[in-house]
Amino acid sequence: MSAATRIVLATHNPHKVAEFAQIVRDERPDIEVVGYDGPEPVEDGVTFTENALIKARAACAHTGLPALADDSGICVDALGGAPGAFSAYWAGHQKDAAANVSLLLDQLSDIADPRRGAQFVSVIALVLPGGEEYVVEGVWPGRLASAPSGAGGFGYDPIFIPDGQDEPARTVAEWSAEEKNAASHRGRAFRELSPLLARVPRSGD
Ligand code: IMP
Repeated sequence: MSAATRIVLATHNPHKVAEFAQIVRDERPDIEVVGYDGPEPVEDGVTFTENALIKARAACAHTGLPALADDSGICVDALGGAPGAFSAYWAGHQKDAAANVSLLLDQLSDIADPRRGAQFVSVIALVLPGGEEYVVEGVWPGRLASAPSGAGGFGYDPIFIPDGQDEPARTVAEWSAEEKNAASHRGRAFRELSPLLARVPRSGD
């Protein structure tokens, strides 16, 4: 019997590893997902796509395996799409989620509905050892609340109100994890990724 096809995942976030492993299992049960423990590239891109590709290329080059990486964040209309790729450290390199949220609310303090539009974006890159590169994107539209509410989720969840809800609309931090997974930017990107996994060569190809 030939060895399993392997794919390397360039993320250290255990929650994301589990999500990726699940989607790969559903689509390609012959593929084993392995973590990446090689050198970390400098994420010096200014877009989600650039950073996802930087991470996937580095993992592919170091391991010789097909590689997956993602990059995500929040894009605010009134700020021309910022924080974007700078979402994790919008208030400084200490990557403090509460500080990020309060800076963003402060920046938007004079902006009223309906001009508080924002979207969560997730980009996933798949890089194959043969040089092929694929990029998919999931976008989750909504708006920013005027103050944080809810205790669930992480990052900007307490101030993001997804579109399409009955009133009173809730922030993502007030949603269950299942509700979020079904609707989120990452869930949307994963659904785009599924058909691409067919391009990963089977062991022995
Ligand atoms: P990364 O893709 O893990 O680097 O995430 C970048 C940053 O975007 C995170 O630190 C969060 O601030 C923000 N972000 C990405 N996805 C979400 C989400 O689902 N909820 C809240 N914040 C998010």
